[in-house]
Amino acid sequence: MKFLKRIVVLFFVLSYLFLLLWFFDFTRYKMIGFFWKVVGFPFDLKNPDYQIYVPVQLFRPKSMLVVEKIHLPSKPKFPLVEFHGHSFNLPEEELIRQMEKTHTKIFVDLALKTTTLNEYNELQKKYANIKERYLIFPGLNWKRLEQQNNKDGIRLMAQDLEEIAKNQPIKGIKLWKDFGLMRKKSDGTYWRLDDPAFDPIWDVCQKYRLIVAIHTADPPAFFSPIDEYNERLIELSRRPEWSFYGKGYPSFDEVMNQREKLFKRRRDVIFVALHFAEFAHDLARAKKLLDENPNVYVDIAQRIDELGRQPRSSRKFFIEYQDRILYGIDGTPNFQKAQIYWRFLETEDEYFDYYPNEKSMKGLWKIYGISLPDEVLEKIYYKNALKLLRINENIVKN
Ligand SMILES: [Zn+2]
Repeated sequence: MKFLKRIVVLFFVLSYLFLLLWFFDFTRYKMIGFFWKVVGFPFDLKNPDYQIYVPVQLFRPKSMLVVEKIHLPSKPKFPLVEFHGHSFNLPEEELIRQMEKTHTKIFVDLALKTTTLNEYNELQKKYANIKERYLIFPGLNWKRLEQQNNKDGIRLMAQDLEEIAKNQPIKGIKLWKDFGLMRKKSDGTYWRLDDPAFDPIWDVCQKYRLIVAIHTADPPAFFSPIDEYNERLIELSRRPEWSFYGKGYPSFDEVMNQREKLFKRRRDVIFVALHFAEFAHDLARAKKLLDENPNVYVDIAQRIDELGRQPRSSRKFFIEYQDRILYGIDGTPNFQKAQIYWRFLETEDEYFDYYPNEKSMKGLWKIYGISLPDEVLEKIYYKNALKLLRINENIVKN
């Protein structure tokens, strides 16, 4: 009995260790290598015979390019409004410290999980000392839709939102990609973004002039097979759950079409299509979207990887649509991450990494700065956001 117990404990310890090692790319592929060796197909990267078979997950080429100048801005040229922030439970003093370090004068917290007045008040209490500089965009209370079995759910969702809007000076709300891609009706079909059933919610947004910050779909690479042709293979093999391919989800274009119909149907509401409207890889589509929908803006959060690999087109785009683009880096204020955004927007630097650590690497390419003119930079850094939020510019001056 005792012996059996030991075996069981040992089994659990070993499985735990195995899972732990499996979690990290590097150790995982070492283990796979070890396995092949044990079964008689030695695979050792130190052996020149096998060096041509470096697993793509371990391939981290170091650029041999020697660039003439490197301009890593130690601060942005102008103060910032972070339009795509998430406070992620950061203690208040830490948020203040990070905001100061990154010259972030206003922090918009896209607080998806804050969906009732109580939750709103709780969150705001946490950041009471920076109340004027900390804006919460709550999410929608989807639980209502689940509880009410669709009948009255949307009206109750609208009611929850209105309760917040009535009692607190909110300026906008946040919607996530689950809307359009994952949310299903009780009959098993997907809720469409342009379904008129959601009008009670848009009516509240119109009534209280709430900006709708909406994240729709994800990059098209996540809708393509995870194979040798997918340029984000490394990232997707690290996070296969991010892929929507072959799992019965609506297609990228389908969701984009629904979104566009919504933007057209509700001209009376201002939308910020997050992550560059998911068209950072296709600026012609981004142009069309902005041209046809005067009520739509975009932010740059998490998309400088795409924008920075087409610097000439991006620069033209940013100048042409200088009134429609908002600054945001996603997440808590982060100096290293922000610095890359400043470098991209402000400098002429060539061929640099768009990520501060390898975890946020998307594909094996680098980016180039677009050195925007000051007047454009100023609009993207804070002027456009303040106009949308209806906040006086004096707030960034001190
Ligand atoms: Zn986000």
